[in-house]
Amino acid sequence: MGYTMADTTVRQFADVLKMTPERLLAQFEQAGIDLDGPDAVITEANKVKLLNHLRESHGRDADASAAPPEITIKRRQRTDLRLSGGQGRSRTVSVEVRKKRRYVNRGVLEEKARKAQNELDKARDTEREQREAEQRALDEKRQELERETREREQAEERRRAEEAERKEKEAQAKARREAEEARRKQQEAANAARKKETDRRASTKYGRKELHVASSKSGRRRKKKQTRRPVAVQGDSKHGFEKPTAPVSREVTLGETITVGDLAQRLAVKANEVIKSLMGMGMMVTINQVLDQETAQLVVEEMGHTVKLLNENELEDALIVEPEASGDAVGRAPVVTVMGHVDHGKTSLLDYIRESRVASGEAGGITQHIGAYRVNHDKGVITFLDTPGHEAFTAMRARGAQATDIVILVVAADDGVMPQTKEAIAHAKAAEVPVIVAINKIDRENADPDRVKNELSANDVIPEDWGGDTQMVPVSALTGQGVDDLLDAVLLQSELLELTAVEDGPAAGVVLESSLEKGRGPVATVLVSRGSLNTGDILLAGEEFGRIRAMFDEKGEATQSAGPSTPVVVLGLSGTPNAGDDMLSVENERRAREVAEHRKSKTRDRKMAEQQLSKMDDLRAQMERGERDSVNLLIKSDVQGSAEALREAMVKLSMDEIEVKVIQSGVGGITENDVNLAATSNAILLGFNVRADAAARNAIKEHGVDLHYFSVIYEAIDQVKLAISGFLKPEIKEQIVGLAEVREVFRSPKFGDVAGCMVSADYAAHNLPRPCNR
Ligand code: GDP
Repeated sequence: MGYTMADTTVRQFADVLKMTPERLLAQFEQAGIDLDGPDAVITEANKVKLLNHLRESHGRDADASAAPPEITIKRRQRTDLRLSGGQGRSRTVSVEVRKKRRYVNRGVLEEKARKAQNELDKARDTEREQREAEQRALDEKRQELERETREREQAEERRRAEEAERKEKEAQAKARREAEEARRKQQEAANAARKKETDRRASTKYGRKELHVASSKSGRRRKKKQTRRPVAVQGDSKHGFEKPTAPVSREVTLGETITVGDLAQRLAVKANEVIKSLMGMGMMVTINQVLDQETAQLVVEEMGHTVKLLNENELEDALIVEPEASGDAVGRAPVVTVMGHVDHGKTSLLDYIRESRVASGEAGGITQHIGAYRVNHDKGVITFLDTPGHEAFTAMRARGAQATDIVILVVAADDGVMPQTKEAIAHAKAAEVPVIVAINKIDRENADPDRVKNELSANDVIPEDWGGDTQMVPVSALTGQGVDDLLDAVLLQSELLELTAVEDGPAAGVVLESSLEKGRGPVATVLVSRGSLNTGDILLAGEEFGRIRAMFDEKGEATQSAGPSTPVVVLGLSGTPNAGDDMLSVENERRAREVAEHRKSKTRDRKMAEQQLSKMDDLRAQMERGERDSVNLLIKSDVQGSAEALREAMVKLSMDEIEVKVIQSGVGGITENDVNLAATSNAILLGFNVRADAAARNAIKEHGVDLHYFSVIYEAIDQVKLAISGFLKPEIKEQIVGLAEVREVFRSPKFGDVAGCMVSADYAAHNLPRPCNR
């Protein structure tokens, strides 16, 4: 500085301080120093005074914000570097280092931060308040909305309920209309059928009766179901979402059988759920198991769905064009079955009436062939069914074939009412078939017809002369005494029954028996019940069909046509139908084939379902009373009737400990297939009037299958009884006969271990066995 302390003027000082002399003067004035003008000399003391004043005033009331909040100091440093390059040349590189440092006034910053914080807090508070207010408004708004929605939903609900109610009413009305329609149709059909013929009992199995039952049943179920079912959600909701207020209820169409897997698929659920539901009903099943209609229906309803039963006969009915009644019904011969206790003379009576000796050709007490023949009596014709007693009668009835008009009950006058007599009475009553009693063997000395009448009365069969309605005719099958009276009685009864049938048009009837014959193929005896059967007709019999190649009457003579109540043997079927199957002549072969195929597959499915069911029954039974053994049988027979009689007789042999199972019974010679089946199922083969062919014999040797031939049913029964006793466990009893003490054990390579024993003295005294080895 180029001035001395002593002569500094205001102007000079102001110049140094880079401010105007006036401002400096004012500052001096504020510091309490009075100077007269810019050229006044400032003393050193005044300067100090001003400085102190300024310092004080700055410290006291200077605006803090005026002080710089921060100072930035920049520093720059430059250095030159000499670098030696290639070829003796050198380069100079200047390096500049710049440093920048910021000094921050903490006080200011903290103040600032505090202020900012305050402001922030304040802002937050206001924001929160704002938010809360908004929230309140929103809540109110939402509540309002919810209330509205609820009201709307309730209204919707009411509307839906009304809708459902209306629909239900409609459905009920529809069901009623349908039922009415079905009833009307059925009535029409029944009327038509009645007009056509009176004896349509044989075909009720595939008749409309069943259709009526099914349709009315399903109608009732549907109704019941609907009253129980919760209201289902119906379409067009205005809301974005829809609460599943009720489970979806499906209608499932059920045929006669369905597998668990298929059922699950139709219900749109996992198979496991169906299995679980069945388990809840006490049935253990697998996914591939076939369920029958009843079971499937239970499951479906259990799971809250409805069932529509498909009447498969409907399809069948549609396939068969029922022949229209062509012509008036005329009287027909009564069809008679002879029943009674064994050895009371059934066969003898039938023989005598037929005037041929059938019994002599037979080997035992049971009539083994189901046949039929007609008898020309002076007042009319009678058709006799030559059946093996009750089994065939009941078997036929079980299939829905009511072939018999009158039952002749044979009771031996010297024996009276026996168990099978009572059975026969029960069967006839169940079938509502009138009974005529033949009191047989009256030629015998100890014959007592009144005792027979007495015993029959006790069984509700009251003779006419005692005020009842049963004709009782004393006869002798041996001498023929009274047989004419018996035939008269039959014709009288027949007149009361007013039996009629249409003679013209396609035939309908029932299969009496069938067999496979060498050179002739499947052979069936059929009884025509209405219409006429002719050679060349297409015949549908049960699951078989075919064009009739030839027909024979009961005498074995070829015939061209057979009318009502006439039994004939027909050739040309595709296989052996079952006794009791219905038969029908149909328009064309293709249709017959279709129906036969359809029936076959139905039977197959049903059998599978039954088998699985019985398997389960077995299992449950076994679990209940511990493991039980079983004897498996495979029966082959010459005619269907015998096969069935044998099967039933065998199954009846089952005992607590052992069960007799007939795994298959069929008609025809024993084939390799039969042997293989017997081998795999560990079954005993029974041949009844049939033999094994060469291939089968080889297979028998190979597999070691047990084969027995019979020609008498009783022999077969005895044989199986014996076999069963072989299966019975031996009874083991232990009895101590003496005691011995083992002294030494010797090892012998030949005899094994040998024990040297000493018999205890006590027992030795009783002469008991000497030392033993084991
Ligand atoms: P089924 O088992 O009922 O068929 O009885 P059968 O016809 O085989 O007869 C049994 C036995 O009784 C045979 O020995 C017949 O000869 C005998 N028999 C049947 N009817 C008469 C009869 O009227 N008088 C006598 N004395 N014996 C008869």
